[in-house]
Amino acid sequence: MTRILPGKTIGILGGGQLGRMMALSAKAMGYRIAVLEPKAGSPLGQIADTEVIAAYDDIDGARRLAEASDVITYEFENIGANVAAWLEENAPFPQGSRLLEISQDRLREKEAITEAGIEVAPYAPVHSLDQLKAAAERLGYPCIVKTTRGGYDGKGQMVLQGEQDAAEAWEKLADSAPLVLESKVAFSKELSVILTRSTQGEMRAFPVAENVHRNGILHETIVPARITADTEKKAVAIASRLAEAFALTGTLAVEMFLTEDGTIYVNEIAPRPHNSGHFTMNACATSQFEQHIRAVCGVPLGKTDLLKPCVMVNILGEHLPRILAGLDEFPEAHLHLYGKDAAKPGRKMGHLNVTSGRTDEMLELIRSSSIWREQQAMGAKQ
Ligand code: AMP
Repeated sequence: MTRILPGKTIGILGGGQLGRMMALSAKAMGYRIAVLEPKAGSPLGQIADTEVIAAYDDIDGARRLAEASDVITYEFENIGANVAAWLEENAPFPQGSRLLEISQDRLREKEAITEAGIEVAPYAPVHSLDQLKAAAERLGYPCIVKTTRGGYDGKGQMVLQGEQDAAEAWEKLADSAPLVLESKVAFSKELSVILTRSTQGEMRAFPVAENVHRNGILHETIVPARITADTEKKAVAIASRLAEAFALTGTLAVEMFLTEDGTIYVNEIAPRPHNSGHFTMNACATSQFEQHIRAVCGVPLGKTDLLKPCVMVNILGEHLPRILAGLDEFPEAHLHLYGKDAAKPGRKMGHLNVTSGRTDEMLELIRSSSIWREQQAMGAKQ
C-alpha cells in the first residue's frame, strides 16, 4: 500500500476514547480526522474534522466516511460484518476484516488461537443447559461461562462455583447462546502484549504489561511487569506468533494468564490499541496510538523502549469526582480524560499514568490514596 502522508485524512470507525487518543496523536503529526459514530459529540467527534453520524452497520455511512478519508481504521471490533466487507472491497482499509471476524466471536477466536499453536484455557462450546452441565463436569469447577459475542470488561459472563449455579447462569445468558464455557485459570498474573505491524511489514512489540483487574474491569497496569526475563520473552513470542498467523496489519493486543508453573494461556485478543497499553503514552518512546497511526499510514514505526517505570490506573465514573478533588496527591502524574459527559459507575472516564519513582513506591501512592479504595468504589455502584 502507498504511504499516507500527513495532511491526508484518516477515517476512524467508532468515536470512543481509543479513537480520540488515536486522533490526538494523528493530529500532532499533521493528519486530519473523520469519524463514523451514531451520535454527535462523542469523545472522538469532539476533536474530529468531519463527523459522519451513522450506525456501525450502515453501509451508506461507511460510504460517506470513505469519501471523506484517504485511509480507514477502526477503534473497536464490533463493526458490522457487512460494513467491514464493503470497506474491504471499496475503500483503502489496510487492516482488512479477518481479525475483526475472529475477535468478534470468542469461539472462533479460541479456535484460531489454538490453530496458531498457542494455548488457551480448556473450553467447550455450549448450546443448552444439559451441555453446560456436562461441559462443567468435564472441565471441573470453578469455571466461567461467557457469551460468544458482545461481552467486554467482564460483562456477559458468570463464574460457576458448582452444579447449583448452572441453571441460573443458563437462564441469564441463554438468549445469547451459543455460549462458551472455560476453566477458571488459577493465574498468578495477568499479562498483555501489544504489537504493531505497518502496511510496509515492519513489526514492533511494546514491553509486556502486568494487569490487575477489579470486577472484570482493568484497574491497574504495571510496567515493567514483575516477571522473569524468560516469561517476558515467551509472552512476546506468543503475541508475535499470533500476529504472524493472523497476517496482522495495525495493532494487536494479546491478553494472557500466567500460572505459577510458568504456563501462559491466551485469554483474548483485540485488533486495536488497548486499555492495557495506555502506559505507553507517558512511559515509552512512542505511544501505542502514534504507533497505530504510523502503521496504517505506512510511515516508519517508532521505537517502543520503556523510558521509565509506570503504573497506569483507570479512572471510572465513581473515581472521577475524587480524582478531580485529589489532583494534589499526584502532581507528577499524567491525567488523561476522555471528554465523556455522564460519569456513570463502572464507565471508563480516563486514566492516570504515574511515572514518578520506583514501582513499589508508585503502587503504594495509589493504594494509600482514597480515590480507588475498593469499598468506596463498590459503594458507589449500589
Ligand atoms: P474477559 O472479558 O474475558 O477479558 O474477562 C475479564 C476478566 O475476568 C479477565 O481479565 C480475568 O481477570 C477474568 N477472567 C476471564 N476469564 C477467565 C478465566 N478463564 N480464568 C480466570 N479468570 C478469568
